[in-house]
Amino acid sequence: MTHIYAEVIGDPIAHSKSPLIHGFWLKALGIDGDYRAMHVAPDGLGDYFAARRADPAWRGCNITIPHKLTALDHVEDRGGVRGTIGAINLALVVEDGALIGTNTDVGGFYAPIADLDLADAPVTVIGAGGAARAVLFALSRIGVGPVTVLNRNVLKAAALLSTFGLKGQALPLGAPLPAASLLVNTSALGMAGQPPLVVDLSPLPEHALVYDLVYAPLETPLLAAARARDLDTVDGLEMLIGQAALAFELLFGTAPPRERDDELRALLGG
Ligand code: NAP
Repeated sequence: MTHIYAEVIGDPIAHSKSPLIHGFWLKALGIDGDYRAMHVAPDGLGDYFAARRADPAWRGCNITIPHKLTALDHVEDRGGVRGTIGAINLALVVEDGALIGTNTDVGGFYAPIADLDLADAPVTVIGAGGAARAVLFALSRIGVGPVTVLNRNVLKAAALLSTFGLKGQALPLGAPLPAASLLVNTSALGMAGQPPLVVDLSPLPEHALVYDLVYAPLETPLLAAARARDLDTVDGLEMLIGQAALAFELLFGTAPPRERDDELRALLGG
């Protein structure tokens, strides 16, 4: 088989953990392929896709900030992502040679909570950026109960509830949390270099699960507070590895060795 490769594109991109994840799986499976980080500025997106499309060894690319919306203009939207999630995290060369856009963040977010019975359950989401779109889309498909979205910019939170047809309320950051079965932080708060996310978890019931999408650091102040209250938690690496696994199978045609997740987490600092 010829040497094949895929990439992750973004601006900035040096911090991305995707090359480590995909590189670990490629090596584990003995696939003759590469997965690299590629810096692409917003005005270079068209040239990037034009150059890569001419290269038969290129299988596609993951897409991260700030290209998740604009990359849709450069791919075929066969799954109707524009009218639903509104953002892609993967451009993929398919069998007929077309370049299609898709989103594996939704499946990556959903996998760790797939066993929970969230039908009609109240859910709280913090943040209303790109990651929130994937989360709210997944919640709209699960059929959860009222969704409260807290965000610095409340108008963005209200707009997302409407976009995804979710019943609920938009509140400013700092408003007391309502009781909810699931609390998800999709904001950048708690990330290295950002202020911590300070919330009072006492309104959450004992069965509540706290899910933080932030993965650097892995043990965020939010997760520490949830553990101190004995609540179940899901950290950001679970979604990061989950979305990467779905992308890997699409890019390289075989499922990654998830039985080696512990080794991979250790490599990623978790
Ligand atoms: P984004 O589109 O830039 O959105 C950032 C969000 O954080 C917005 O809600 C923004 O509020 C809020 N925010 C940023 N700085 C803030 C501040 N100083 N005070 C209050 N709110 C602030 O980013 P994103 O793509 O959604 O990513 C958000 C986080 O999720 C990042 O930590 C990212 O690493 C993580 N993430 C993880 C995964 C995973 O697989 N685990 C996947 C995607 C993203 P405003 O709307 O008011 O600006």
